[in-house]
Amino acid sequence: MDFEYTPEQRQLRRSVREFAEAEILPHVMEWDEAQTFPLATIRKLGELGYMGSIFPEELGGAGLGYVEYSIIIEELSRVDGSVGIILAAHTSLCSNHIFKSGDDAQRKHYLPKLASGEWIGCWSLTETEAGSDAAGTRTTATLDGGGWVLNGAKTFTTNAHYADVCVAMAMTDRTAAQHGISAFIIEKGTPGFRAGKKENKLGLRASATGELIFDNCRLPQSQLLGKRGEGFVDSLKALDGGRISIAALAIGMAQGAYDAALKYSKVRKQFGRPISEFQAIQYKLVDMATELDAARLLNYRAATRLDRGERVTRESSMAKLFASEAAVRIANEAVQIHGGYGFIKDYPVEKFYRDVKLCTIGEGTSEIQRLVIARQLLKD
Ligand SMILES: Cc1cc2nc3c(=O)[nH]c(=O)nc-3n(C[C@H](O)[C@H](O)[C@H](O)COP(=O)(O)OP(=O)(O)OC[C@H]3O[C@@H](n4cnc5c(N)ncnc54)[C@H](O)[C@@H]3O)c2cc1C
Repeated sequence: MDFEYTPEQRQLRRSVREFAEAEILPHVMEWDEAQTFPLATIRKLGELGYMGSIFPEELGGAGLGYVEYSIIIEELSRVDGSVGIILAAHTSLCSNHIFKSGDDAQRKHYLPKLASGEWIGCWSLTETEAGSDAAGTRTTATLDGGGWVLNGAKTFTTNAHYADVCVAMAMTDRTAAQHGISAFIIEKGTPGFRAGKKENKLGLRASATGELIFDNCRLPQSQLLGKRGEGFVDSLKALDGGRISIAALAIGMAQGAYDAALKYSKVRKQFGRPISEFQAIQYKLVDMATELDAARLLNYRAATRLDRGERVTRESSMAKLFASEAAVRIANEAVQIHGGYGFIKDYPVEKFYRDVKLCTIGEGTSEIQRLVIARQLLKD
Protein backbone atom coordinates (compact mmCIF):
# COMPACT_ATOMS: atom_id res chain seq x y z
CA MET A 1 0.00 0.00 0.00
CA ASP A 2 1.31 3.40 -0.94
CA PHE A 3 -0.72 6.50 -0.18
CA GLU A 4 1.64 8.95 -1.90
CA TYR A 5 1.23 10.44 -5.36
CA THR A 6 4.24 10.02 -7.61
CA PRO A 7 6.02 13.25 -8.69
CA GLU A 8 4.52 12.69 -12.18
CA GLN A 9 0.99 12.45 -10.74
CA ARG A 10 1.52 15.71 -8.79
CA GLN A 11 2.78 17.40 -11.93
CA LEU A 12 -0.19 16.06 -13.92
CA ARG A 13 -2.61 17.48 -11.33
CA ARG A 14 -0.88 20.87 -11.45
CA SER A 15 -0.95 20.94 -15.25
CA VAL A 16 -4.63 20.02 -15.54
CA ARG A 17 -5.55 22.50 -12.80
CA GLU A 18 -3.68 25.31 -14.56
CA PHE A 19 -5.41 24.46 -17.84
CA ALA A 20 -8.85 24.28 -16.21
CA GLU A 21 -8.43 27.57 -14.35
CA ALA A 22 -7.09 29.41 -17.40
CA GLU A 23 -9.21 27.93 -20.20
CA ILE A 24 -12.44 26.74 -18.59
CA LEU A 25 -13.13 28.81 -15.47
CA PRO A 26 -13.76 32.13 -17.31
CA HIS A 27 -16.53 30.51 -19.40
CA VAL A 28 -18.26 28.18 -16.93
CA MET A 29 -21.44 30.15 -16.26
CA GLU A 30 -21.82 31.37 -19.84
CA TRP A 31 -21.61 27.78 -21.16
CA ASP A 32 -23.99 26.59 -18.44
CA GLU A 33 -26.66 29.18 -19.14
CA ALA A 34 -26.50 28.93 -22.94
CA GLN A 35 -25.96 25.12 -22.84
CA THR A 36 -22.88 25.61 -25.03
CA PHE A 37 -20.89 22.48 -25.81
CA PRO A 38 -17.22 23.51 -25.34
CA LEU A 39 -15.93 22.02 -28.58
CA ALA A 40 -12.76 24.15 -28.88
CA THR A 41 -11.77 23.26 -25.31
CA ILE A 42 -12.31 19.56 -25.97
CA ARG A 43 -10.01 19.78 -29.00
CA LYS A 44 -7.35 21.42 -26.80
CA LEU A 45 -7.73 18.61 -24.25
CA GLY A 46 -7.05 16.21 -27.12
CA GLU A 47 -3.90 18.09 -28.10
CA LEU A 48 -2.70 17.82 -24.50
CA GLY A 49 -3.18 14.04 -24.54
CA TYR A 50 -6.06 14.02 -22.04
CA MET A 51 -8.68 12.52 -24.38
CA GLY A 52 -6.89 9.19 -24.63
CA SER A 53 -4.90 9.06 -21.41
CA ILE A 54 -5.48 5.36 -20.65
CA PHE A 55 -4.55 3.95 -24.07
CA PRO A 56 -1.12 2.78 -25.21
CA GLU A 57 1.10 5.25 -27.00
CA GLU A 58 1.17 3.15 -30.19
CA LEU A 59 -2.57 3.80 -30.49
CA GLY A 60 -2.16 7.52 -29.91
CA GLY A 61 -2.83 7.40 -26.17
CA ALA A 62 -0.75 8.72 -23.28
CA GLY A 63 -0.08 5.27 -21.77
CA LEU A 64 -1.29 6.33 -18.32
CA GLY A 65 -3.35 4.41 -15.75
CA TYR A 66 -6.74 4.92 -14.11
CA VAL A 67 -5.27 6.88 -11.17
CA GLU A 68 -3.92 9.47 -13.62
CA TYR A 69 -7.19 9.33 -15.60
CA SER A 70 -9.06 10.03 -12.34
CA ILE A 71 -6.75 12.96 -11.55
CA ILE A 72 -7.51 14.47 -14.97
CA ILE A 73 -11.29 14.13 -14.51
CA GLU A 74 -11.13 15.42 -10.92
CA GLU A 75 -9.25 18.56 -11.87
CA LEU A 76 -11.47 19.37 -14.86
CA SER A 77 -14.62 18.71 -12.81
CA ARG A 78 -13.34 20.81 -9.90
CA VAL A 79 -13.90 23.70 -12.33
CA ASP A 80 -16.66 22.34 -14.61
CA GLY A 81 -18.29 18.92 -14.33
CA SER A 82 -19.64 19.26 -17.88
CA VAL A 83 -16.12 19.02 -19.27
CA GLY A 84 -15.46 16.08 -16.94
CA ILE A 85 -18.46 14.07 -18.14
CA ILE A 86 -17.75 14.80 -21.82
CA LEU A 87 -14.24 13.41 -21.38
CA ALA A 88 -15.41 10.47 -19.26
CA ALA A 89 -18.07 9.23 -21.72
CA HIS A 90 -15.63 9.67 -24.60
CA THR A 91 -12.74 7.84 -22.92
CA SER A 92 -13.82 5.07 -20.57
CA LEU A 93 -17.04 4.16 -22.38
CA CYS A 94 -16.74 4.75 -26.15
CA SER A 95 -12.97 4.55 -26.72
CA ASN A 96 -12.36 1.92 -24.06
CA HIS A 97 -15.10 -0.37 -25.38
CA ILE A 98 -13.37 -0.21 -28.79
CA PHE A 99 -9.96 -0.74 -27.17
CA LYS A 100 -11.08 -3.74 -25.10
CA SER A 101 -13.39 -5.48 -27.57
CA GLY A 102 -12.30 -4.24 -30.99
CA ASP A 103 -10.18 -6.14 -33.48
CA ASP A 104 -6.84 -4.78 -34.65
CA ALA A 105 -8.32 -2.95 -37.63
CA GLN A 106 -10.97 -1.23 -35.48
CA ARG A 107 -8.44 -0.19 -32.84
CA LYS A 108 -6.04 1.23 -35.40
CA HIS A 109 -8.79 3.03 -37.30
CA TYR A 110 -10.61 4.62 -34.36
CA LEU A 111 -8.33 4.98 -31.35
CA PRO A 112 -5.67 7.40 -32.64
CA LYS A 113 -8.32 9.90 -33.79
CA LEU A 114 -10.37 9.49 -30.60
CA ALA A 115 -7.27 9.85 -28.42
CA SER A 116 -6.19 13.02 -30.21
CA GLY A 117 -9.65 14.56 -29.79
CA GLU A 118 -10.02 14.90 -33.56
CA TRP A 119 -13.02 12.62 -33.18
CA ILE A 120 -15.43 12.72 -30.25
CA GLY A 121 -17.00 9.49 -29.02
CA CYS A 122 -20.29 8.58 -27.41
CA TRP A 123 -21.60 5.32 -25.94
CA SER A 124 -25.22 4.35 -26.07
CA LEU A 125 -26.82 1.67 -23.96
CA THR A 126 -29.85 3.36 -22.36
CA GLU A 127 -33.28 3.45 -24.02
CA THR A 128 -36.56 4.97 -22.85
CA GLU A 129 -37.79 1.53 -21.71
CA ALA A 130 -34.35 0.15 -20.81
CA GLY A 131 -32.61 2.27 -18.16
CA SER A 132 -31.56 0.39 -15.02
CA ASP A 133 -32.80 -2.73 -16.81
CA ALA A 134 -30.39 -2.12 -19.67
CA ALA A 135 -30.66 -5.68 -20.92
CA GLY A 136 -34.20 -4.75 -21.97
CA THR A 137 -32.76 -3.12 -25.11
CA ARG A 138 -35.33 -2.85 -27.89
CA THR A 139 -33.14 -1.47 -30.66
CA THR A 140 -32.58 -4.31 -33.09
CA ALA A 141 -29.80 -5.26 -35.47
CA THR A 142 -30.65 -7.84 -38.12
CA LEU A 143 -28.44 -9.44 -40.74
CA ASP A 144 -29.45 -8.57 -44.28
CA GLY A 145 -27.45 -9.12 -47.46
CA GLY A 146 -24.19 -9.59 -45.58
CA GLY A 147 -24.54 -6.45 -43.46
CA TRP A 148 -26.45 -5.26 -40.39
CA VAL A 149 -29.59 -3.14 -40.33
CA LEU A 150 -30.24 -1.21 -37.10
CA ASN A 151 -33.66 0.08 -36.05
CA GLY A 152 -34.69 1.78 -32.82
CA ALA A 153 -33.71 4.68 -30.59
CA LYS A 154 -31.33 5.32 -27.73
CA THR A 155 -31.82 7.99 -25.10
CA PHE A 156 -29.70 10.04 -22.64
CA THR A 157 -26.49 9.58 -24.62
CA THR A 158 -23.71 11.93 -23.48
CA ASN A 159 -22.04 13.68 -26.45
CA ALA A 160 -24.76 12.35 -28.83
CA HIS A 161 -24.96 15.54 -30.88
CA TYR A 162 -21.22 16.10 -31.21
CA ALA A 163 -19.93 12.56 -31.59
CA ASP A 164 -18.09 11.41 -34.69
CA VAL A 165 -18.10 7.82 -33.45
CA CYS A 166 -20.83 6.04 -31.51
CA VAL A 167 -20.73 2.65 -29.83
CA ALA A 168 -24.31 1.40 -29.45
CA MET A 169 -25.85 -1.80 -28.18
CA ALA A 170 -28.61 -3.55 -30.15
CA MET A 171 -30.52 -6.80 -29.86
CA THR A 172 -29.29 -9.41 -32.35
CA ASP A 173 -31.05 -12.45 -30.84
CA ARG A 174 -34.14 -11.86 -28.71
CA THR A 175 -34.25 -15.48 -27.49
CA ALA A 176 -30.79 -15.22 -25.89
CA ALA A 177 -31.64 -12.38 -23.42
CA GLN A 178 -28.40 -10.69 -22.21
CA HIS A 179 -26.35 -12.82 -24.60
CA GLY A 180 -28.46 -11.61 -27.50
CA ILE A 181 -27.16 -8.05 -27.33
CA SER A 182 -24.29 -6.98 -29.60
CA ALA A 183 -22.22 -3.81 -29.85
CA PHE A 184 -21.76 -1.78 -33.04
CA ILE A 185 -19.58 1.13 -34.08
CA ILE A 186 -21.53 3.75 -36.02
CA GLU A 187 -19.91 6.75 -37.65
CA LYS A 188 -21.51 10.16 -37.90
CA GLY A 189 -23.09 10.62 -41.34
CA THR A 190 -24.03 6.95 -41.76
CA PRO A 191 -27.39 6.97 -43.61
CA GLY A 192 -30.28 6.14 -41.27
CA PHE A 193 -28.38 7.35 -38.18
CA ARG A 194 -29.04 10.73 -36.57
CA ALA A 195 -29.20 12.55 -33.28
CA GLY A 196 -32.69 13.40 -32.00
CA LYS A 197 -33.86 15.51 -29.07
CA LYS A 198 -31.19 17.26 -27.01
CA GLU A 199 -32.28 17.31 -23.37
CA ASN A 200 -32.64 20.53 -21.37
CA LYS A 201 -31.01 19.51 -18.09
CA LEU A 202 -30.89 20.49 -14.41
CA GLY A 203 -27.10 20.40 -14.43
CA LEU A 204 -24.02 19.58 -16.48
CA ARG A 205 -25.71 21.77 -19.04
CA ALA A 206 -22.66 22.39 -21.22
CA SER A 207 -22.51 18.64 -21.90
CA ALA A 208 -24.97 17.49 -24.55
CA THR A 209 -27.24 14.60 -23.63
CA GLY A 210 -29.83 13.18 -25.97
CA GLU A 211 -31.41 10.76 -28.34
CA LEU A 212 -29.85 8.74 -31.14
CA ILE A 213 -32.13 7.33 -33.81
CA PHE A 214 -31.57 4.33 -36.07
CA ASP A 215 -33.91 4.17 -39.04
CA ASN A 216 -32.91 1.28 -41.30
CA CYS A 217 -29.31 2.18 -40.61
CA ARG A 218 -27.13 -0.15 -42.69
CA LEU A 219 -23.71 -1.14 -41.43
CA PRO A 220 -21.11 -3.45 -42.95
CA GLN A 221 -20.16 -6.57 -40.97
CA SER A 222 -16.93 -4.83 -40.00
CA GLN A 223 -18.87 -2.48 -37.66
CA LEU A 224 -19.80 -5.28 -35.26
CA LEU A 225 -17.71 -4.61 -32.12
CA GLY A 226 -16.56 -7.70 -30.23
CA LYS A 227 -18.28 -11.04 -30.58
CA ARG A 228 -21.89 -11.26 -31.65
CA GLY A 229 -24.05 -11.57 -28.52
CA GLU A 230 -21.31 -10.30 -26.18
CA GLY A 231 -22.13 -6.58 -26.39
CA PHE A 232 -23.94 -6.46 -23.06
CA VAL A 233 -21.27 -8.42 -21.19
CA ASP A 234 -18.57 -6.21 -22.71
CA SER A 235 -20.63 -3.16 -21.68
CA LEU A 236 -20.60 -4.29 -18.06
CA LYS A 237 -16.81 -4.56 -18.25
CA ALA A 238 -16.57 -1.05 -19.74
CA LEU A 239 -18.80 0.19 -16.92
CA ASP A 240 -16.31 -1.10 -14.30
CA GLY A 241 -13.87 1.55 -15.56
CA GLY A 242 -16.67 4.00 -16.29
CA ARG A 243 -17.76 4.01 -12.66
CA ILE A 244 -14.26 5.03 -11.62
CA SER A 245 -14.65 8.01 -13.95
CA ILE A 246 -18.05 8.95 -12.44
CA ALA A 247 -16.54 8.68 -8.95
CA ALA A 248 -13.74 11.02 -10.13
CA LEU A 249 -16.35 13.37 -11.60
CA ALA A 250 -18.16 13.45 -8.22
CA ILE A 251 -14.91 13.91 -6.28
CA GLY A 252 -13.79 16.76 -8.55
CA MET A 253 -17.07 18.65 -8.17
CA ALA A 254 -17.13 17.99 -4.40
CA GLN A 255 -13.58 19.36 -4.16
CA GLY A 256 -14.66 22.47 -6.04
CA ALA A 257 -17.62 22.97 -3.70
CA TYR A 258 -15.51 22.32 -0.60
CA ASP A 259 -12.72 24.70 -1.69
CA ALA A 260 -15.28 27.45 -2.33
CA ALA A 261 -16.99 26.87 1.04
CA LEU A 262 -13.71 26.83 2.99
CA LYS A 263 -12.60 30.09 1.38
CA TYR A 264 -15.98 31.76 1.89
CA SER A 265 -16.16 30.68 5.56
CA LYS A 266 -12.91 32.54 6.27
CA VAL A 267 -14.01 35.84 4.72
CA ARG A 268 -17.71 35.98 5.58
CA LYS A 269 -18.18 37.75 8.90
CA GLN A 270 -21.27 37.56 11.09
CA PHE A 271 -21.56 38.51 14.78
CA GLY A 272 -18.20 40.27 14.38
CA ARG A 273 -16.09 37.27 13.29
CA PRO A 274 -15.53 34.94 10.38
CA ILE A 275 -18.17 32.21 10.25
CA SER A 276 -15.31 29.63 10.15
CA GLU A 277 -14.86 30.36 13.86
CA PHE A 278 -18.29 28.92 14.65
CA GLN A 279 -18.08 25.27 15.62
CA ALA A 280 -21.24 24.46 13.62
CA ILE A 281 -19.46 25.59 10.43
CA GLN A 282 -16.21 23.85 11.40
CA TYR A 283 -18.04 20.55 11.86
CA LYS A 284 -19.53 20.86 8.40
CA LEU A 285 -16.09 21.50 6.90
CA VAL A 286 -14.65 18.55 8.82
CA ASP A 287 -17.32 16.16 7.59
CA MET A 288 -16.93 17.43 4.01
CA ALA A 289 -13.14 17.03 4.04
CA THR A 290 -13.33 13.58 5.62
CA GLU A 291 -15.89 12.28 3.12
CA LEU A 292 -13.86 13.73 0.28
CA ASP A 293 -10.75 11.89 1.44
CA ALA A 294 -12.65 8.64 1.93
CA ALA A 295 -14.18 8.88 -1.55
CA ARG A 296 -10.80 9.55 -3.13
CA LEU A 297 -9.17 6.61 -1.33
CA LEU A 298 -11.96 4.23 -2.37
CA ASN A 299 -11.63 5.39 -5.96
CA TYR A 300 -7.85 5.12 -6.11
CA ARG A 301 -8.11 1.59 -4.71
CA ALA A 302 -10.44 0.63 -7.56
CA ALA A 303 -8.23 2.46 -10.09
CA THR A 304 -5.04 0.80 -8.84
CA ARG A 305 -6.57 -2.67 -8.99
CA LEU A 306 -7.94 -2.07 -12.46
CA ASP A 307 -4.47 -0.97 -13.59
CA ARG A 308 -3.15 -4.27 -12.24
CA GLY A 309 -5.60 -6.06 -14.55
CA GLU A 310 -8.01 -7.20 -11.82
CA ARG A 311 -11.80 -7.22 -12.24
CA VAL A 312 -13.09 -4.38 -10.05
CA THR A 313 -16.88 -4.63 -10.24
CA ARG A 314 -17.25 -4.43 -6.45
CA GLU A 315 -14.54 -1.81 -5.85
CA SER A 316 -15.64 0.53 -8.64
CA SER A 317 -19.30 0.28 -7.65
CA MET A 318 -18.41 1.03 -4.01
CA ALA A 319 -16.31 4.00 -5.09
CA LYS A 320 -19.05 5.34 -7.40
CA LEU A 321 -21.80 4.81 -4.81
CA PHE A 322 -19.91 6.45 -1.95
CA ALA A 323 -18.30 9.26 -3.94
CA SER A 324 -21.54 10.31 -5.65
CA GLU A 325 -23.65 10.29 -2.48
CA ALA A 326 -20.90 12.05 -0.50
CA ALA A 327 -20.56 14.66 -3.25
CA VAL A 328 -24.29 15.43 -3.09
CA ARG A 329 -23.98 15.94 0.69
CA ILE A 330 -20.82 18.06 0.29
CA ALA A 331 -22.35 20.32 -2.37
CA ASN A 332 -25.44 20.71 -0.16
CA GLU A 333 -23.34 21.79 2.82
CA ALA A 334 -21.29 24.12 0.60
CA VAL A 335 -24.50 25.95 -0.33
CA GLN A 336 -25.52 26.02 3.36
CA ILE A 337 -22.19 27.56 4.41
CA HIS A 338 -22.73 30.30 1.81
CA GLY A 339 -26.17 31.10 3.27
CA GLY A 340 -28.29 33.13 0.84
CA TYR A 341 -25.30 33.72 -1.43
CA GLY A 342 -25.14 29.97 -2.03
CA PHE A 343 -28.46 30.29 -3.81
CA ILE A 344 -27.15 32.97 -6.15
CA LYS A 345 -25.43 32.29 -9.46
CA ASP A 346 -22.56 34.70 -8.70
CA TYR A 347 -21.10 31.98 -6.47
CA PRO A 348 -19.92 28.61 -7.85
CA VAL A 349 -21.59 26.34 -5.29
CA GLU A 350 -25.07 26.77 -6.80
CA LYS A 351 -23.86 25.08 -9.99
CA PHE A 352 -22.00 22.29 -8.16
CA TYR A 353 -25.21 21.59 -6.23
CA ARG A 354 -27.12 21.12 -9.52
CA ASP A 355 -24.38 19.31 -11.44
CA VAL A 356 -23.37 16.77 -8.85
CA LYS A 357 -26.77 15.07 -8.68
CA LEU A 358 -26.12 13.30 -11.98
CA CYS A 359 -23.43 11.22 -10.30
CA THR A 360 -25.99 9.25 -8.26
CA ILE A 361 -27.87 8.45 -11.49
CA GLY A 362 -25.56 8.04 -14.51
CA GLU A 363 -23.77 4.74 -15.21
CA GLY A 364 -26.10 2.98 -12.80
CA THR A 365 -28.13 4.65 -10.05
CA SER A 366 -27.19 4.34 -6.38
CA GLU A 367 -29.90 1.69 -6.02
CA ILE A 368 -28.35 -0.33 -8.86
CA GLN A 369 -24.84 0.08 -7.39
CA ARG A 370 -26.19 -1.41 -4.15
CA LEU A 371 -27.64 -4.35 -6.11
CA VAL A 372 -24.30 -4.88 -7.87
CA ILE A 373 -22.34 -4.71 -4.62
CA ALA A 374 -24.80 -7.00 -2.83
CA ARG A 375 -24.41 -9.59 -5.58
CA GLN A 376 -20.63 -9.44 -5.21
CA LEU A 377 -20.78 -9.70 -1.39
CA LEU A 378 -23.11 -12.68 -1.46
CA LYS A 379 -21.09 -14.38 -4.20
CA ASP A 380 -17.91 -14.04 -2.13
C1 LIG B 1 -27.01 13.46 -17.89
C2 LIG B 1 -27.10 12.00 -18.22
C3 LIG B 1 -26.12 11.42 -19.00
C4 LIG B 1 -26.23 10.07 -19.36
N1 LIG B 1 -25.29 9.53 -20.22
C5 LIG B 1 -25.48 8.26 -20.69
C6 LIG B 1 -24.64 7.73 -21.73
O1 LIG B 1 -23.69 8.39 -22.20
N2 LIG B 1 -24.93 6.50 -22.23
C7 LIG B 1 -25.95 5.74 -21.75
O2 LIG B 1 -26.15 4.64 -22.23
N3 LIG B 1 -26.76 6.21 -20.74
C8 LIG B 1 -26.55 7.45 -20.22
N4 LIG B 1 -27.39 7.95 -19.23
C9 LIG B 1 -28.48 7.12 -18.74
C10 LIG B 1 -28.33 6.65 -17.30
O3 LIG B 1 -27.35 5.66 -17.21
C11 LIG B 1 -29.72 6.18 -16.83
O4 LIG B 1 -30.50 7.35 -16.67
C12 LIG B 1 -29.67 5.41 -15.53
O5 LIG B 1 -29.04 4.17 -15.74
C13 LIG B 1 -31.07 5.17 -14.93
O6 LIG B 1 -31.99 4.73 -15.89
P1 LIG B 1 -33.43 5.47 -15.99
O7 LIG B 1 -33.14 6.90 -16.13
O8 LIG B 1 -34.22 4.81 -17.05
O9 LIG B 1 -34.10 5.23 -14.59
P2 LIG B 1 -34.98 3.94 -14.13
O10 LIG B 1 -34.23 2.71 -14.44
O11 LIG B 1 -36.35 4.09 -14.65
O12 LIG B 1 -35.00 4.14 -12.57
C14 LIG B 1 -35.95 4.93 -11.86
C15 LIG B 1 -35.75 4.70 -10.37
O13 LIG B 1 -36.03 3.32 -10.05
C16 LIG B 1 -34.90 2.74 -9.41
N5 LIG B 1 -34.79 1.33 -9.77
C17 LIG B 1 -34.86 0.77 -11.00
N6 LIG B 1 -34.71 -0.55 -10.94
C18 LIG B 1 -34.52 -0.86 -9.64
C19 LIG B 1 -34.30 -2.06 -8.92
N7 LIG B 1 -34.20 -3.24 -9.53
N8 LIG B 1 -34.16 -1.99 -7.59
C20 LIG B 1 -34.23 -0.79 -6.93
N9 LIG B 1 -34.44 0.38 -7.57
C21 LIG B 1 -34.58 0.35 -8.90
C22 LIG B 1 -33.71 3.56 -9.91
O14 LIG B 1 -32.59 3.42 -9.04
C23 LIG B 1 -34.30 4.95 -9.93
O15 LIG B 1 -34.27 5.50 -8.65
C24 LIG B 1 -27.29 9.29 -18.85
C25 LIG B 1 -28.25 9.88 -18.02
C26 LIG B 1 -28.19 11.21 -17.71
C27 LIG B 1 -29.26 11.83 -16.86
